[in-house]
Amino acid sequence: MDDQETNPAAPTALVTGSTRGIGKAIADMLRQRGVHVLTHGSGDGPTGRAQLSADLDDPAAPAQLWADALAAVRAAGRTRIDILINNAGLFDAAPIDLSDIAWLDAWDRTLRINLSSAAQLSRLAVRHWQEGGNAGGRLVNIASRAAYRGDSPDHWHYAAAKSGLVAMGKTIARHYAGDGILAYTVCPGFVDTAMVGDGANASDAADLARDIPLGRVARPEEIARIAAFCALDAPESMTGAVIDANGASFVR
Ligand code: NAD
Repeated sequence: MDDQETNPAAPTALVTGSTRGIGKAIADMLRQRGVHVLTHGSGDGPTGRAQLSADLDDPAAPAQLWADALAAVRAAGRTRIDILINNAGLFDAAPIDLSDIAWLDAWDRTLRINLSSAAQLSRLAVRHWQEGGNAGGRLVNIASRAAYRGDSPDHWHYAAAKSGLVAMGKTIARHYAGDGILAYTVCPGFVDTAMVGDGANASDAADLARDIPLGRVARPEEIARIAAFCALDAPESMTGAVIDANGASFVR
C-alpha cells in the first residue's frame, strides 16, 4: 500500500533495514526531501511498518526484495528505482571459543546479511540503471568505522563484511560512472540505535563516549543527513568517496 504523496518527477529510493535506527532516519529524511521511499524490514519482531519484507539471511531474498520493490514502484505509477541505500545489517558476536561450526555459521550469516545481500541488490540496481536509458542511479552503502579500524575480538566477521562493502562500493564507482551510476559509502562510528543500545547501561554508554573526542555517539539523524546528501546532492565527481562519521574517534 502506498500512501505517499510525492511529485511524480521525484526520485524513488529503496532503503533496506528502514524499520528502525539509521535506516528509519534515512527513510524519514529522504521523505522530507520529497523522495518516494520504499521501506524494508526483516519481517520478524517489532520492527514497525515496512512496505517490503525480506529476511536477507536467505540467499533468495535479495532478488525477491528487488522484484517486490519494482512491483511497488509500478503500482505507484512510477517506472524506476533511482536510489538504493544498503543499510540493513546486524552486529552479532562470534567469540573465538565457539565450536568450529558455530563460528563458521556466524561468519556466513554476518557476511550474507551485511555484504552478500547488499552485493546482490547492488548488482540488480546496476543492471536496472544500465537498462534505464542512461538515466543512471545512486548507490549509498552504510558500512562502518570497523572497515578501517577493525572491531572487537567477537566481531572479526563484522569488520571483514564492512571492509568488503567499502571495496564493493569503490569498484562500482570506478566501473559504472560512465553509465551515470554513482556510489558513495558512509562509515559511522558508534550510533545511538538498538544495535548499540541493546543491553547497554549508563556505564557502557560512558565507556563508549570516553573513546570519542566529540564526547558522544552519533545520532541516527546525523548519519541520515550524510546518506541523504550522497543520495541527492553529492557532486558526481565525488563518486567512490567514503565518508567517516565517528566524532574523530578514528581519523585517517
Ligand atoms: P538496527 O539494529 O537498529 O537496525 C538494523 C536494520 O537492519 C533493521 O531495520 C533490521 O530489520 C535490518 N536487518 C537486520 N537483520 C536483517 C535481516 N536478516 N534481514 C533483513 N533486514 C535485517 O541497527 P542500526 O544501528 O540502525 O544499523 C544500520 C546500519 O548501520 C547497519 O548496517 C550497521 O552495521 C551500520 N552501523 C551501525 C553502527 C551503530 O553504532 N549503530 C555503527 C556503524 C555502522
